[in-house]
Amino acid sequence: MQKRRAEVAIIGAGPAGIACAQQCIRQGIEDVLLIERDRPGGLLYQANRIENFPGLRDMSGREAVEELTDIISDHDLTVLKDEVTEISEKKNSFESVMKDGSVVSSNNLVLATGTKPRGLGIPDEKYHPEWRDHTYETVGVVGGGDAAYDYALRINELGGESVILQRGEPKALQTLIDEVKRQDIRVLNGELKDWEVEERGYKLNFGEEILKCDTVVVAIGREPCVPPMDFSYGDVKFPSGSTDVDRLYLVGSLVLGGYRHASLAWGTGLAAAMDICNKKQ
Ligand SMILES: Cc1cc2nc3c(=O)[nH]c(=O)nc-3n(C[C@H](O)[C@H](O)[C@H](O)COP(=O)(O)OP(=O)(O)OC[C@H]3O[C@@H](n4cnc5c(N)ncnc54)[C@H](O)[C@@H]3O)c2cc1C
Repeated sequence: MQKRRAEVAIIGAGPAGIACAQQCIRQGIEDVLLIERDRPGGLLYQANRIENFPGLRDMSGREAVEELTDIISDHDLTVLKDEVTEISEKKNSFESVMKDGSVVSSNNLVLATGTKPRGLGIPDEKYHPEWRDHTYETVGVVGGGDAAYDYALRINELGGESVILQRGEPKALQTLIDEVKRQDIRVLNGELKDWEVEERGYKLNFGEEILKCDTVVVAIGREPCVPPMDFSYGDVKFPSGSTDVDRLYLVGSLVLGGYRHASLAWGTGLAAAMDICNKKQ
């Protein structure tokens, strides 16, 4: 079994994890390891346009993630590309077990694993549209929040025809609602009664309509994404994400509940790093 050690292991290289890693390095901890199962940058990659993060303003999610990735390379941060499947507490350390069976042992552990989407159980439903050409495609976007409106705009801008399927009043930001109106995107109100998978795409029985679409994107909310742990961590304190377990931190949207914004996630990652570094002195 392959084993590696780190002073600080950070699981998840989204805004919170990257901020934490960068601040550890800035405060003199060199032995920092970021563990990321996918590409660095996290959920921000899905955003159509960022409006409220200084320095990333007016960028698409893809562009914003490139900026964040530059921080990783500028600081020579090591990113281990793997998924943590299990975490256990040892004497004075934590062990994070990877999908490939290898283990990372660390004195400090930061969980910056974000959130996972809620699903509807429709076969092959997607949770975000791909960054690709959607021309001639009809996409049913289920949800009435920021993510649903953001995805519908992106599909439209990438050549597809998106239809928003929402229950009641929209919960998205007014700027997104206005832009959806301006781009003439259809919005249906009602309840998804059932669906049929067809040879090509789906037939959705929504409200009073039957909508035929090629793809279904579900954006009906998210929930915390915590890797399995063999111990409980108790209370999580704001802003550093410190817990009842010494040297274990939970940061970012994983613990931000409804306050899921990149700048807040960034701030908690930074605060965790400051706590870790203060303890080390
Ligand atoms: C469509 C959309 C638009 C958005 N627009 C904006 C916006 O304009 N402005 C704004 O501020 N915010 C926006 N957000 C929200 C923003 O993306 C999140 O608040 C932010 O990314 C949260 O950062 P995070 O680091 O806490 O988590 P995430 O970005 O979710 O990162 C978590 C990372 O952990 C990794 N991970 C999870 N589990 C494991 C594991 N077991 N092992 C290894 N890696 C793991 C994931 O792959 C992921 O990369 C938007 C979100 C969406 C979906």
